Amino acid sequence: MAHIRQAGILAPGSDAVHDADVIMTAAVVGHAYARLSNNSNCAFDIEADTDPGQDARMAVNWDRHKRAVAKINKALETMGGQYGKPGTGKEAIVGVTPAYDKQGNITRITGGAGDLPLDSPLRYNPPLPKDLAGAKLYTLAFDSRVGYQGRGAYTGFVQGRQNGQSNLFSTYRQRVPTAFGRRWLPSTKPADSNAPIGLSQQERIWGMVGDNAMQEELRQQGMYFKDQDKARGGTGLVTDDIVGYTHGMVQAVYDVEMWKAINPHEHAGTPYEIAVGKETTKLASCFTCAIFMQANGHPASATHLGRGESWLPLYPENGSSVSTQDRTRAACNDKWAAYCKTIIDAGIACIERRLATDKHKASMTSLKACLAGKQPMDYANLVLDAVTVHEHEVVRVDRTLLA
Ligand SMILES: [Zn+2]
Repeated sequence: MAHIRQAGILAPGSDAVHDADVIMTAAVVGHAYARLSNNSNCAFDIEADTDPGQDARMAVNWDRHKRAVAKINKALETMGGQYGKPGTGKEAIVGVTPAYDKQGNITRITGGAGDLPLDSPLRYNPPLPKDLAGAKLYTLAFDSRVGYQGRGAYTGFVQGRQNGQSNLFSTYRQRVPTAFGRRWLPSTKPADSNAPIGLSQQERIWGMVGDNAMQEELRQQGMYFKDQDKARGGTGLVTDDIVGYTHGMVQAVYDVEMWKAINPHEHAGTPYEIAVGKETTKLASCFTCAIFMQANGHPASATHLGRGESWLPLYPENGSSVSTQDRTRAACNDKWAAYCKTIIDAGIACIERRLATDKHKASMTSLKACLAGKQPMDYANLVLDAVTVHEHEVVRVDRTLLA
């Protein structure tokens, strides 16, 4: 099935920006509700910026972040009881992203630490890898020659695995396959006035971070473009393609889950992610990683509400049952899709009477019509579509909800 081309994500005549706003705001509020109703804490961390001279911008960001979390709590009040009420433990908390400490004190995002108390030192700074292979990989991950090192560079890996080690996992770009349900791209093809480099056409490929000209820079910073491989006989990308990015952390989660399937009686290890390169200092998972991690039993140590630009999972490459790797991908994705359905359904109930504008109300009507009778993967695909409209989640939440 080809991707569907229309103006809106949710309907031919709807507005894509407002569609993305209501999809992601429902998901964020629903995720908060899912955690709080499970007696877990729920913190949304501001993307701390340690760069001096950024104080004015940070003040604006702080105001917006606190306002957005307050709006999330107002929406949670819809569920009754103590939900959303300050000081009850049933409210979303404003957190601060632990920053990358060049002295090496806090250096990791951890999959699985997210249910520890917010003040637990083990949440953000668990013991360093003791196993030799893990320690070597940890050092290697800081090596500027390995993997993508540009803006937003994180490298995932697995620590504490009994009898073995995994790889390092860097963010990579890939083409969205057409075999896993409906995906959207806008009816107006986005123009890119920059001459393409390494691409065969003048237009920007939907989902791409940056314009065509920026792609060569990303490649030089070490990003792997899986969509340029030999699968199409070297054809590369065409304008009816969508591309996305699979972050290192989720690659590490698949790896841990595959190890569990192969060696059910051994400790499969813990998925980690560390910030690498000179441009990345924030140590929190993007929201899109966080819900995948939550769904697969590895809740994130910290979650920010920044961008998860064109986030993608990994898909089975040869059907869902041929290899352990493909079976694992299918199983992890099914859990993630089920979680997307849970949080979007809960989120819609929380936010549908708290929408800020008529355009958001129209998109909500489209969202409910679009989801009627749909399967979990259809919900998950809407999240993927929404994050191809690149924006900070905190901005979407802030402009979607009433105070
Ligand atoms: Zn991520």
